[in-house]
Amino acid sequence: MGREQEVEAGGEEYLFKIVLIGDSAVGKSNLLSRFARNEFDSNSKATIGVEFQTQVVDIDGKEIKAQIWDTAGQERFRAVTSAYYRGAVGALIVYDITRRTSFDSVKRWLDELSGKFLSILLSFFFDCGFDGRAHCDTAVARMLVGNKCDLENIREVSVEEGKNLAEEESLFFMETSALDSTNVQTAFEVVIREIYNNVSKKIL
Ligand code: GDP
Ligand code: MG
Repeated sequence: MGREQEVEAGGEEYLFKIVLIGDSAVGKSNLLSRFARNEFDSNSKATIGVEFQTQVVDIDGKEIKAQIWDTAGQERFRAVTSAYYRGAVGALIVYDITRRTSFDSVKRWLDELSGKFLSILLSFFFDCGFDGRAHCDTAVARMLVGNKCDLENIREVSVEEGKNLAEEESLFFMETSALDSTNVQTAFEVVIREIYNNVSKKIL
């Protein structure tokens, strides 16, 4: 596959790869189906098949294609491949507010994201040599997402804890519910807007 992020300054064509990461069953697939198709699936079957979905979003009158990748269940085996992260310019790191262990895993996911990212950046650096391609060093726009906020009665992680971690790690933060749609659209849009801002800074 070619570069997932294509930026044509003249043609105004934007395609951003965004990855969903986080422990199994935190709601990654449902966040994506809520965002892309406005659907929710109450079955807890693990994700199979579809690797990514492309959603067109309007940011300041610009048509932006967000290619959002789902782990396809790989995370159950703690074996998300580096191909998954390759070319990503945005990431939603998801935990479940009713399951503390999924919140404790966030740091591991961040490490994995930056570790994989570092090695991918290095390989880009050597692959693309010194031709000055803008997206060799694009920063990743990262959002911490506390999902299932509809389940207030069985909450295990407070809003404050989510906010504090996000602040420590310089992440955007939002609590969402794929079930009742709270903040789902907004969470993806904030990430897409941040990527767009990063990219347009480089072009200008
Ligand atoms: P993934 O493994 O991270 O992709 O998680 P899934 O999207 O498959 O969701 C795991 C389980 O959590 C499923 O039973 C979903 O129905 C449920 N779920 C996902 N998001 C929410 C949510 O926002 N609220 C509630 N109450 N349940 C959710
Ligand atoms: Mg899934």
